[in-house]
Amino acid sequence: MKIANSKVTAERLVRDALEKAKHFDDYHIFTFIDEEGAIKKAKEIDAKIARGEKVGRLAGVPYALKDNFLSPRGETTASAHILEGFTSPITATAVEKLEAEGAIMIGRTNLDAFAHGSSTENSYYGPTLNAFDKKRVAGGSSGGSAVAVALDIVEFATGTDTGGSIRQPASFNGVYGLKPTYGCISRYGVVAMASSTDCIGFFTKSSDDMELLMSVASGQDPKDLTTLADYYNDSENKKAKKVGIIKDFDNDSVDKEIREALKKKCELLKSKGYEIVELEMPALKYALAAYYIIVPAEVASNLSRYDGVRYGFRSEKSGDLDKLYANTRDEGFMSENKRRIMIGNFVLSSGFYDAYFLKAAKARTLIVKEYEKAFKKVDYLLTPVSPNPAFLLGEKVNDPIAMYLEDMMSVSLNLAGIPGLAIPAGMNKNGLPLGLQLVGPRRSDKSLIEFSKELI
Ligand code: GLN
Repeated sequence: MKIANSKVTAERLVRDALEKAKHFDDYHIFTFIDEEGAIKKAKEIDAKIARGEKVGRLAGVPYALKDNFLSPRGETTASAHILEGFTSPITATAVEKLEAEGAIMIGRTNLDAFAHGSSTENSYYGPTLNAFDKKRVAGGSSGGSAVAVALDIVEFATGTDTGGSIRQPASFNGVYGLKPTYGCISRYGVVAMASSTDCIGFFTKSSDDMELLMSVASGQDPKDLTTLADYYNDSENKKAKKVGIIKDFDNDSVDKEIREALKKKCELLKSKGYEIVELEMPALKYALAAYYIIVPAEVASNLSRYDGVRYGFRSEKSGDLDKLYANTRDEGFMSENKRRIMIGNFVLSSGFYDAYFLKAAKARTLIVKEYEKAFKKVDYLLTPVSPNPAFLLGEKVNDPIAMYLEDMMSVSLNLAGIPGLAIPAGMNKNGLPLGLQLVGPRRSDKSLIEFSKELI
């Protein structure tokens, strides 16, 4: 990571990033760029360096902020029409921590509205294009953040991962993407999607950068009672011996070149003395169904606050208060948001709660136990992130089930609250990046990142 010092100024780093952002304008990465604000912050850091004052560990490092992190700089829209015009009075804890160390936000990045999606095509502002092929999707929901790092515009970008939204776009664009243990980084000031699976994480170009960002951003926050007591910086680096691969994922529903990339990495690990253990994890087949019940239930609850009165957009159509709510929500949400609100309210409704929500909650417990069992046998798991590399724009956007199937291998980690690191694993024959994810037990984030260096 390039950090401002006596040799390179923060202003130079920031101006370079802003120039690149303009150059790649057609990729549709940013929903907002704060040229003036970023340059002003850079000058302040340079002045500190010139005076010989101490600067932070991320001094002058330009970064991109997924547009579902609250900050008073620019509107926070979550790429949703219903939040258009909303400027936050508060700043997310993660943003405060990064900026306290001198990181400089140059702009906000595009996402599927409210982070619902796997391609960034559900954004009110239109899709972000893949860094390697403009006819293909960036992945999602953090598509803008992944492409901002992949095209080397910024040194890192923030993301949120509720069911794969960091790992999948990272793998589609050949960068590192970490979903930490649930509760490792504060969610305070981040637009909620599903409160029991939402995680804050990063996109970087290396494992070292990821380690540094985690050491800055992790930790308990009195403003988010689900944060865990600080463990990241104190955790010991565990010596790994065994890596598991999941038999249930080695079938025709997974792209052949991805399965080959996994085999190659296993050979590499074997050559370094690690044992590869094949595991059967039958409970994981329930993950997608359980996720698409539990998450919409939480989405329906979290999105109930957007009513045209408190935040952003309000419908112009006249009518009484009920009509104002209904029209605003009808015009302000994307179809995918509405689909999830409807599914969520359905699975929570009396008469269906036992059949759907309760069953999904039980399946979730089975998944948690399945992972606990696996981590008694192996130190980490290595799996694909998604069943295929980046798909074509328009290919799945009108077929919600096909889009949901994208999340087949990513969502179980969120249900179990365990960390996963997407790592680049070569290219396919069409020049598209292939990604794999390293999965570890709860609180193993630091060793997991360290271990990823064995896979290079
Ligand atoms: N693609 C998944 C979904 O649409 C994950 C989204 C996310 O992690 N925010 O639910």
